[in-house]
Amino acid sequence: MEIVRTVEALRGWSRAIRMQDETVGLVPTMGALHAGHASLMRAAAEQCGHVAVTIFVNPTQFGPQEDFDRYPRTFEADCMLAEREGARVVFAPPVEEMYPAGAATFVDVEGLSGRLDGASRPGHFRGVATVVAKLLIAAEADRAYFGQKDAAQVAVLRRMVRDLRIGTELVVCPIVREADGLALSSRNVYLSTDERRQALALSRAVKRVEAMAAGGERRAALLTEAARQTLASEPAVRVDYAELVEWATLEPVEIATAGTLFAVAAWVGATRLIDNAVMG
Ligand code: AMP
Repeated sequence: MEIVRTVEALRGWSRAIRMQDETVGLVPTMGALHAGHASLMRAAAEQCGHVAVTIFVNPTQFGPQEDFDRYPRTFEADCMLAEREGARVVFAPPVEEMYPAGAATFVDVEGLSGRLDGASRPGHFRGVATVVAKLLIAAEADRAYFGQKDAAQVAVLRRMVRDLRIGTELVVCPIVREADGLALSSRNVYLSTDERRQALALSRAVKRVEAMAAGGERRAALLTEAARQTLASEPAVRVDYAELVEWATLEPVEIATAGTLFAVAAWVGATRLIDNAVMG
């Protein structure tokens, strides 16, 4: 497995593969890789001839008070995991490679970028859309793999790819969870033992909404109220949002139908976690 640091090298690698009529799969990550990331790599390796994993902690998607500096960085272990999961290339550019001095171009998906995480993290989705646009332009991949874990991000990126007519197909993979239900996240390492236990309120809330909806309760107000009750049962948990929305637009719905997204974000102590499910 090769580690490349420049856009030019990544693009050259991808073009050489595609010239031979083989396919390239791209898995964008911020590193601190876990089984959730591994599942994206496995899907990419199954569906594409060659897989590139990107590891880039993108400064523009972090707010000034957020955890950019202390975000976990485990590059060597990440490379081992990527290699094990079949990646041919790890693209790990320095910040100046993705944001050359004086970079003034950003991608803003209007409307969607202000919803859910975008409402409580101003500028977050602008940073995400910008860096993913750069990665897709750099890699010229056939497919790029993202987790449903970040469901609002998926909505923003789907719209961006459609609006900008980017030729990469987005593939969305299911949420990978710990045995007890907690969605895997690079930020779970921030949790104390007690917070780790209380963090289960998020997946419990998601499960409760799924079960109520499956049982026929479709009123969003009642479903979200039940989720909030579950979240409120843990003292260290503070809800950011708990909403039923149309996945494509992130607009709230009054009645949940098949395909409606239930998404939740909550602070557990000082750590912000997210979880979601798509209603059946
Ligand atoms: P991150 O490194 O947190 O930016 O995540 C990189 C990609 O991995 C994103 O597309 C995430 O949605 C995805 N991802 C993160 N956690 C999980 C998980 N628990 N299950 C599936 N995909 C995940």
